[in-house]
Amino acid sequence: MTTIHQIRNIGISAHIDSGKTTLTERMLYYCGRIHRMRDVKGGDGGATMDFDSIEARRGITISSAVTQVRWNEHTINVIDTPGHIDFTIEVERSLRVLDGAVLVLCAVGGVQSQSVTVDRQMRRYGVPRIAFINKMDRTGADPQRVVRQLREKLHCRPALLQIPIGRESRFEGVIDLLSMEAVYFRDPDGGRVERTAIPGEMQAEAETARRDLLDLLSGFDDDLTARLLDESVPDVQSLHAVVRKATLSRQLTPVLVGSAYRNTGVQEVLTAVTRYRPGPADRRIFARDTRSWSATQAARVSSADVSATASGEGLSAELVELSAVTSAPLVAMAFKTVMHSFGQLTFLRIYQGQLNRGSAYVNARTGSAVRFSRLVRIHADQREEIQSADAGEIVGVLGIDCASGDTFTDESVQCSLESMFVPEPVVRLSIEVVRNEDHGKLARALEAFRREDPTFRVSTDPETGQTLIAGMGQLHLDVYLEKLQRDYACECRTGRPRVAWRQCPTRHVPFRHVFKKMTGGPGQFAQIQGTMTPISPESADSFEFADETHGGCIPREYIPAVKQGFLDELSRGPLGDFDVVGIRIVLTDGAHHENDSSDLSFRLCAAEALRTVILPEADVRLLEPIMTVEVEAPAEFQGSVIGHLLRSRGLITASENHNDLCTITADVPLAELFDYACELRGVTQGQGTFTTAFARYAMVPEDVAGRVLKQTRS
Ligand code: GDP
Repeated sequence: MTTIHQIRNIGISAHIDSGKTTLTERMLYYCGRIHRMRDVKGGDGGATMDFDSIEARRGITISSAVTQVRWNEHTINVIDTPGHIDFTIEVERSLRVLDGAVLVLCAVGGVQSQSVTVDRQMRRYGVPRIAFINKMDRTGADPQRVVRQLREKLHCRPALLQIPIGRESRFEGVIDLLSMEAVYFRDPDGGRVERTAIPGEMQAEAETARRDLLDLLSGFDDDLTARLLDESVPDVQSLHAVVRKATLSRQLTPVLVGSAYRNTGVQEVLTAVTRYRPGPADRRIFARDTRSWSATQAARVSSADVSATASGEGLSAELVELSAVTSAPLVAMAFKTVMHSFGQLTFLRIYQGQLNRGSAYVNARTGSAVRFSRLVRIHADQREEIQSADAGEIVGVLGIDCASGDTFTDESVQCSLESMFVPEPVVRLSIEVVRNEDHGKLARALEAFRREDPTFRVSTDPETGQTLIAGMGQLHLDVYLEKLQRDYACECRTGRPRVAWRQCPTRHVPFRHVFKKMTGGPGQFAQIQGTMTPISPESADSFEFADETHGGCIPREYIPAVKQGFLDELSRGPLGDFDVVGIRIVLTDGAHHENDSSDLSFRLCAAEALRTVILPEADVRLLEPIMTVEVEAPAEFQGSVIGHLLRSRGLITASENHNDLCTITADVPLAELFDYACELRGVTQGQGTFTTAFARYAMVPEDVAGRVLKQTRS
């Protein structure tokens, strides 16, 4: 039987093509979960974790599949995090429920843009990491360079626990610097691990590397420092303990090397996971006490809140600490929902207590009790029915109705683990059915997608009445369009993808506005006065409101209506029908009328004030999403790639050459990137590849704004 100390909930994250799927596949094989290794992107149906056929065809991993394996008397739940950045929400969701992660890096490519983004997300959720430098068999493999990049680009303290035996095509094993043994992976499948003495010609190199490692480790442990000064040899177990302690406190990132494809080093990664990753009881988890909460508060969560609940930093009285014991009341969070033909499959992480089949639990968001009649353990697309599950575990529940991010508790506690940080979508396109009779199908499909993915949004264009879908990038939306056709047999036409523009004021505006309607019946009267100040449109709360009125000039009960009136108007502005952000309103004065004032009159007054008085005076500017683009191409194309990025209004942030390949990183407006795949092919004779990640919103230069806006309206 597994105790909570023997559970590891880990994620594997990586830049696309670093070998994450291959590594996962090999792990499943060595743990006996699958009996045949399959090659990723091969013709035999693709890897086990990529169980969705769209994913298999595109060679990317979208849905976070969860799978369970056993290694060294530990249960490891591997939560597959997607590599493609258009699926950020999937990464955020899985990070929320992980206790640790393995960061896979390519020995040649090193730390690439997506690794930087994923690392930022891991920091937000306080997830400790291990790095695995994969593809040591490739020409140009350079682990030292990757370690340097870990230090410089990710600002972590990497500790190389192994050095490779042989390089490139002669890579044959690793030297474990803690036990000072050579480790080889024998048999055609690398399944037999052989630990032997270090080959003579590598002894000196291994000793130098070990000295460096012990020096680094001694910074985390006084006993070790004393032993090193004494020149006594520390035992392996105590070294593991130091690495574990420093990793759990996120001060150290252990680094392993290997080649998943060549079956070298994978078992050592599994052992490192059991040795250095935290178990569910090693992390402090906080939930919010919701006894005094209203539904709207529960729904509104900023990114700052997320990191506070994930790490306990900025702990407030509202936060309660959970305890990962079975005897405590149940607290669990749904972190993913998937629609299947048999109904909804919900992935739950249990933080506290025990989940039992047949019991009813309360959804903290809706307040209603839900009976859990089928519990399953999940392995890619196979399910195993179970009766109960304990704190620390990840399980599936079949047939319940809830949204991802919902917290379930037993009735004796009221708390919420909160929603996760949900980024705003940046691309939008219109969609309509080709055949009239498919309207129902489209509505059903969009509702299902929206439920499983909060970054996928559905709305109606107020001008044309068309249905709009929005997401984190073109690929993100393409995948859903393909699903529509495949799973729902719903043929659709789409419009051109549009950027999700925003607008923000740049000038401080004092205002005074009177709203009066006196035509028959009871009249409507409201008067408000105050100031509007621009705030950073990037801040978590892009609208702030403060009431500084006194003396009852506006009765207190009308103040929420004033705020609501402003909020009502934030979906359009002088530049067009898109969000207005970056506004702080301070209400300083006003007036009301005994008989003719109401919530409605104040709400309409504020909305009208924003539209007709404040925004026209505020010098409103256009904001656009900027993406970080990383291009890799043969070095001879460096000049033309850079030239093209500059013409696309790009700002080059880095350009590196390595073994005849160049890597160029640039910040480029999303509006210029819609045909980039095609354009890059032209510029590099088909030999360039690229990835994009949303970086931030930025103000569009005025000379460009006019042209850009005209394009979007055309
Ligand atoms: P993912 O996109 O990170 O999931 O990466 P994949 O596992 O799909 O691997 C991308 C490509 O790299 C595939 O063609 C793999 O066969 C290849 N690959 C994975 N691991 C290694 C390795 O250790 N050495 C070499 N040479 N190729 C590898």
